[in-house]
Amino acid sequence: MTEFKTVRGMRDFLPEEAKIMRYIEGKARRVAELYGYNEIITPVLEPYELLAAKAGEEVRLRMYAFKDLGERMVALRPEFTPSVARLVATTLRNEPKPFRLFCVGSLYRYDEPQQGRYREFWQSNFELMGSSKPEADAEIIMLTNSLMETVGLRNYAFKFGHIGVLRGVMGKEGLDEKVQSDAMQLMDKKQYDEALRLVKEAGVSNKCMATLRKLVELKGDNLGIIEEMKLLVKDYEEALKATENLQEILKLVQASGCKINMTIEAGFARGLEYYTGIIFEVNVPEMDKALAGGGRYDRLIELFGGEPTPAVGIAHGIDRIMLALQLQKARLKIKEEKTVIVIPVNEELKGEALKISQMLREANMPVEVEVSGRKVAKALEDANRRKMDYAIIVGEKELKEDSVVIRNLREREQKVVKIGTIVETIKGKSD
Ligand code: AMP
Repeated sequence: MTEFKTVRGMRDFLPEEAKIMRYIEGKARRVAELYGYNEIITPVLEPYELLAAKAGEEVRLRMYAFKDLGERMVALRPEFTPSVARLVATTLRNEPKPFRLFCVGSLYRYDEPQQGRYREFWQSNFELMGSSKPEADAEIIMLTNSLMETVGLRNYAFKFGHIGVLRGVMGKEGLDEKVQSDAMQLMDKKQYDEALRLVKEAGVSNKCMATLRKLVELKGDNLGIIEEMKLLVKDYEEALKATENLQEILKLVQASGCKINMTIEAGFARGLEYYTGIIFEVNVPEMDKALAGGGRYDRLIELFGGEPTPAVGIAHGIDRIMLALQLQKARLKIKEEKTVIVIPVNEELKGEALKISQMLREANMPVEVEVSGRKVAKALEDANRRKMDYAIIVGEKELKEDSVVIRNLREREQKVVKIGTIVETIKGKSD
C-alpha cells in the first residue's frame, strides 16, 4: 500500500496547533464584535473570473483554477475580498451603508512552500464598505492593532504607504495603467531598479524619473516624513492629495490614543491591483513576511457591477500570527479546563460510568469515559501518561452509598465523595 501524505504545501493541524489557531481565530471574532463587524460565510470555490478580475499577476498565476464537471471555470479563493465585493455588488446592493463585514477561513495559493508560506492558509478578514472618509481607514488600522495586541504579540510594527503617491506621479505623464501595475508589482517584490527601468522604457520625463527614484528611497518612522513626501510631489496634484490623505489617516490613528510602531514608505506597493488609497502591512522583527496586509479599494464593487462603493479592508494571516507567537515564545492565555476520566471498576458498571459521565456533562463539566475495557490500574496509568487532572472511579461498594472515588492525579490522592458533589469537588469549591 502507498503511504499517504498531505499534498505538498498542505498541512495538518494536530490538537496543540489547532488549539492555537482557534485561539487566534477566537480573538479575531471578539475584535469583530467589539468593532461591530458581522460575520459572513462565503464559498471556498468561486468563479475564476471573479477572483482573477483584479487580483494582480502574482496572485492570479498562483490560483488553483480548474473546470468543474459542468465545464465551469472555477478557482479556490486566494483571498476574501472579491467574494465580499461580489456580495456587496449583488445581494447586499440595497443595504444602507456603511457596513462592516468579517470573514474567517482558509485560502489557497500555489505559493512555493516555506516557513510562513503555505498553499492552504487562514485569514481573518475585515471590510468596511461605503465610507471614503479617513476615519474608516483609521478604524481598520485600530482594529488590526487591537488584534495583534490581544493575541499577545510583541514588537510588531505597521508599514504604511499610499497607492496614490506613485500612481499620481506616473499617471501625470499618462503612463499606461498596465505599465503602472507592472511597475507596482515589481516594487512590491522590492525590485525597484527593474520597476524604474520599466517606467523609463515606457518613455516618461527625466523629472518624473528623478521624483520616482527619490520616492522609493524615502522612508521614516514618524509623521515627519510625510512633510518631505509632500515637498517631493508638490507638482503632482494627485500624488499630493494622496500624501495628504495618508497624513490625515495617521493623524486620526494618533488622535485615538492608539500607540503603534510604524514606518512610512513612499515607495511601498502591494501586489493586489485593486488598491486605490492607503496600503498597510504588519511585521515583526523575527520574520521577513508580513502578518497582515490591507488597504483602500474604492472601485472594486463598481467593477463587479455594483453601486460605486468606497471600501477599506485588511486580511490578518492567522498562520503567520501563530508562527510569530511561537518565534517570540509567547505564553498564550488559553483557558484550560480540568481533564477528567470516568473509569468503571468492572464490566457490569459500564452503564453506571456512562450515566455519571452524562450527568457531569449536563452540569457543563467535560469528561471522558474509559472505553477500552481496561482495568483500573491500566486506565489510571494511561490517564497519568496523558497528564489528566482527575479520575472518577466507579465501584460497587461506593455506589451503594451513592458515591464514587475521585482521584486527584496531580496530587496523587483520592477520596470518596457523593455523586451529587463531584462537580464542586473537582471545580474546587468544597475541596
Ligand atoms: P495578501 O492578500 O497577499 O496581502 O495576504 C494577506 C495576509 O495573508 C499576509 O499578510 C499573510 O499573513 C497571509 N498570507 C498570504 N499568503 C500566504 C501564504 N501563502 N501562506 C500563509 N499566509 C499567507
